[in-house]
Amino acid sequence: MNYDLIVVGTSFASSFFLKKYLEKSHAGVKVLVLERGAYEPQRERIGRAQKMPFGLVPYVTNTSTGITYTNTNPGKPWIFDPSFGGSSNCWTGCTPRFMPNDFKLQSTYGVGMDWPITYNELESYYCETEEIMSISGPDSTPYPMSKSYPLPAHKFNTIDHILHNQYQELYISQPTARASKTGNRNVCCSSSICHLCPVGAKFTIENGLLPIYQDPRVTLVYNTQVLALDIQAGLAKGVITLSSGQTRTYEGNVIALGANAIFNAHILLNSGDTNEHTGANLSEQVGYYGYIHLHDLDNIGGSTIITANGFMLYDTPARKEASACLIESHNDPIIRAETGKWRKIAKFKFVFEDIPQSKNRVRLGKEEHIPLIEYHGHSDYVTRGYERMKNKLPDLLTKLPVEEILLDKNAQVSESHILGTARMSVNGKSGVVDMNLLHHSYRNVFVLGGSSFTCISAANPTLTLSALSLRAADKSF
Ligand SMILES: Cc1cc2nc3c(=O)[nH]c(=O)nc-3n(C[C@H](O)[C@H](O)[C@H](O)COP(=O)(O)OP(=O)(O)OC[C@H]3O[C@@H](n4cnc5c(N)ncnc54)[C@H](O)[C@@H]3O)c2cc1C
Repeated sequence: MNYDLIVVGTSFASSFFLKKYLEKSHAGVKVLVLERGAYEPQRERIGRAQKMPFGLVPYVTNTSTGITYTNTNPGKPWIFDPSFGGSSNCWTGCTPRFMPNDFKLQSTYGVGMDWPITYNELESYYCETEEIMSISGPDSTPYPMSKSYPLPAHKFNTIDHILHNQYQELYISQPTARASKTGNRNVCCSSSICHLCPVGAKFTIENGLLPIYQDPRVTLVYNTQVLALDIQAGLAKGVITLSSGQTRTYEGNVIALGANAIFNAHILLNSGDTNEHTGANLSEQVGYYGYIHLHDLDNIGGSTIITANGFMLYDTPARKEASACLIESHNDPIIRAETGKWRKIAKFKFVFEDIPQSKNRVRLGKEEHIPLIEYHGHSDYVTRGYERMKNKLPDLLTKLPVEEILLDKNAQVSESHILGTARMSVNGKSGVVDMNLLHHSYRNVFVLGGSSFTCISAANPTLTLSALSLRAADKSF
């Protein structure tokens, strides 16, 4: 069988591409989807969690192919779920858009690199992605929107109301795929167990896009790891796979890699891709928690785990020197262990963008099916962003009755975002894929997902990478 399209992976990058591709294709088209893991329905995941201490289920599961990567820096984990639906199963569902200047960091602020695509070119696909994911969000935002969010905004907690009154569209109810109102899904229960979402409020591939995998034009094969592309005369003729210890080749006219930034790069490197940027620039945002003790204000309410996003330290001229910071107002259960002061606390996360560095990279490992990850750390741009936030924070919070500001000195080990190993660029000298996510050298290979990110915005990546997938499929016709 020669397939019209072979899709690798079944998470956001692949599914949004496949959805648009099927919409625009004729009835006779043949699509093969290869997924390295198995399908574990959400109700079974919850059943498994109930049998474990504290209901904990590890995010990174070993698949039938064994461990998924080797790490030279075990202090820096890269978190994902290698099964049907990928990390849509365990993501938190935070979906702010990027700011227009995130796409032109170099020309606006003289740092990083411009994307070959603009905010305006992606805007209609943002709207479509928000519709598919049924995003809950506010009426006014710091980025322009041609359509309102499909569902109403989540409710603020006490301190969010105060900060929103002060900063208006720079402090908004967080746009999120955790439903605020019954529609396609149930309403968020605000229990903060988002990695398993016990009530089915959060968008996942399983609850949102399963029908595309049941389309008669699609054949889905589980427990099959794609190792490499079969490259002949500069084009991919198919993919080479590993399943139950056996390798085989599937033939296809077009290949769409949606295996995430670690495995997309690994597949390309295994295929003999010599582009110097392939595998390089592995990055993610850097997050620090901060706790604000309040004198005489109980911080209560809020209808979801993260109630607000603050953009006060995001897109400012300071970005020439210091990284943008996205503020998240966290509403998960937390109390002060002091009599009478239990609720007199606010919790924030400060999330910083990073400038990708070529020394942080995915390489080929000793075994063909296991990539090696070398991550040396984030750039100084982040350090300066953190220092700036620390200096500015007391002034930003003057409307709150602040007793004490307690900032974590150490960053979180991971933001669970894997980005940047096949970056988008105007040509093959400065990156790996073009603005339509087609590989600069292999013109029938799409490299989807966060691997294509040219710079690492402070905003969460998944809405943007899904919109890019819709656009890539749309432009392929
Ligand atoms: C705990 C957690 C919380 C998160 N919260 C948020 C959030 O709030 N907001 C946000 O924007 N992002 C969040 N993320 C990140 C988000 O989940 C990722 O950005 C998103 O899942 C990336 O989608 P993807 O399709 O590119 O890759 P993945 O979700 O990683 O999926 C890759 C798919 O490819 C398959 N695959 C991999 N290698 C191969 C291979 N060689 N052959 C065949 N199949 C393969 C995998 O099994 C999987 O199906 C979170 C992630 C985690 C882990």
